[in-house]
Amino acid sequence: MANIVAIVGRPNVGKSTLYNRLTESRKAIVDDFSGVTRDRHYGQAEWIGKKFTVIDTGGFVHGSDDVFEAAIREQVHIAIEEASVILFVVDVTTGVTDLDDEIADILRRSKKPVYIVANKVDSAKQANDSAEFYSFGLGEPYDISSMTGSGTGELLDEVVSHF
Ligand code: GDP
Ligand code: MG
Repeated sequence: MANIVAIVGRPNVGKSTLYNRLTESRKAIVDDFSGVTRDRHYGQAEWIGKKFTVIDTGGFVHGSDDVFEAAIREQVHIAIEEASVILFVVDVTTGVTDLDDEIADILRRSKKPVYIVANKVDSAKQANDSAEFYSFGLGEPYDISSMTGSGTGELLDEVVSHF
């Protein structure tokens, strides 16, 4: 199976920022495919000599709250099908939301390795803020800052251990 890492999570947690950091692409999000590939971006990444594909899920989703949540759930299901490893990104500055819990429920039922990525830990004083993400029942949260790159090395060491 190809080495594919999918980034999932609700809007605004920093998925695209992490994707850009991992793929070192800074290009604007302009792709707009139809169907299931809509608003999904595929990029190449490499860590300690291991190459893998990164998928950024869930760009712009329009519609009512119901449509919106259904679209996010759909993205998570596709990610589970396509990916060999899943990065579930959450935001330490907002903490756990209902939508986070919903996504966690879906991921717990998957057979794929899932890493909880506690994003926006920009400074050491926020390090304890991610403890609440243990409540997902998906293991230890990995503190990172997609903006500065802090913590991404430790996360990638774990991710590529599957490849
Ligand atoms: P997405 O909707 O999950 O793809 O989130 P984006 O990558 O578009 O980021 C949403 C917002 O969070 C943007 O304003 C980013 O600049 C900001 N952001 C992303 N990562 C970080 C981070 O590590 N620290 C902080 N402080 N802000 C971040
Ligand atoms: Mg995005």
